[in-house]
Amino acid sequence: MTSSFFDQLASSVLDGKPATEDDALAVLQAHDDELMDVVAAAARLRREHFGNTVKVNYLVNLKSGLCPENCNYCSQALGSSADILKYKWLNTDEALEQAAAGLKGGATRVCMVSSGRGPTNKDVERVADMVGTIKAEHPEVEICACLGLLKDGQAERLREAGVDAYNHNINTAESHHEQIVQTHTYADRVDTVQKAKTAGLSPCSGLIAGLGETDEQLVEALFALRDLGSDSIPVNFLMPFDGTPYENVWDLTPMRCVKILAMARFVCPDKEIRIAGGREMHLRTLQGLALQVANSIFLGDYLTSEGQAAEADLELIRDHGFTVLGAAPEVPEAPQTYDPAKRRRGAGTAVAPNA
Ligand code: SF4
Repeated sequence: MTSSFFDQLASSVLDGKPATEDDALAVLQAHDDELMDVVAAAARLRREHFGNTVKVNYLVNLKSGLCPENCNYCSQALGSSADILKYKWLNTDEALEQAAAGLKGGATRVCMVSSGRGPTNKDVERVADMVGTIKAEHPEVEICACLGLLKDGQAERLREAGVDAYNHNINTAESHHEQIVQTHTYADRVDTVQKAKTAGLSPCSGLIAGLGETDEQLVEALFALRDLGSDSIPVNFLMPFDGTPYENVWDLTPMRCVKILAMARFVCPDKEIRIAGGREMHLRTLQGLALQVANSIFLGDYLTSEGQAAEADLELIRDHGFTVLGAAPEVPEAPQTYDPAKRRRGAGTAVAPNA
């Protein structure tokens, strides 16, 4: 049996030779017939660095909507008329309650997010208080803050308060950035990721696919994330909210999304590749296949949209033979049983068939 180009690429990456931009493009542009070769090869890298574990993250939207920035893809942006929840800051008890629900559901990392250009020092203190309270009750939790652009000293204060990681996505390639937002620059975003890193926070930065970028720009964004040293890379797939400039943009297919995740795995083999917003909508029945290359998901809901049921997320993980990172080893159970639903429609009945 001859090994595929992708298998050889995986061997080369495992031998310590980083993937090139041409390699990444080849993965992204693989023919649909080659998808299983791509997945099998990328899965070797995933297994090497993350075994059969899946990291489960939980989002708490501390402050929703009402943002003065104009990120075109965002339902919370200035000018968006998307019918989403809008509220000001949760208080500490509410944040604790939400975080506890995520932890009870199986998450090990809580991502505390607020809309807006960036926090004031008072906002940072507010979040510091929440983090102290959550960590006092749940010392094992990892906390990632995502509060927008940081000013000098704010990353250090968050670190001191017990925050473990800071998320700020670059979202897209530098060469495409001005097409998607005009109220801040690509350099502003990179600066915040670097501030977080310098303060000792684990940098979390990722992208959104489906914003009208070219294949080359997706490659450009991923290599920028590699150069930035992002420890975790959320890969979002555009959710085209009605009432935003991208409301009618549907550029993605399930197979394309798997190739994007596989490309991320080849370029950043030992980094956390997180399937983020748009997972259910765009990967659809390929969510399980995507877990063969990505090693992290959000449990349950997103910031302004609902995900599939949290129990379905955990079932997805279990059904594909993965385990939740940090969870107690599962005691093997008897196989789940289901009662067959007896057919009472179609042939032999007067009820319309299921077709
Ligand atoms: S992505 Fe963040 S900064 Fe941009 S509009 Fe949405 S909430 Fe505001």
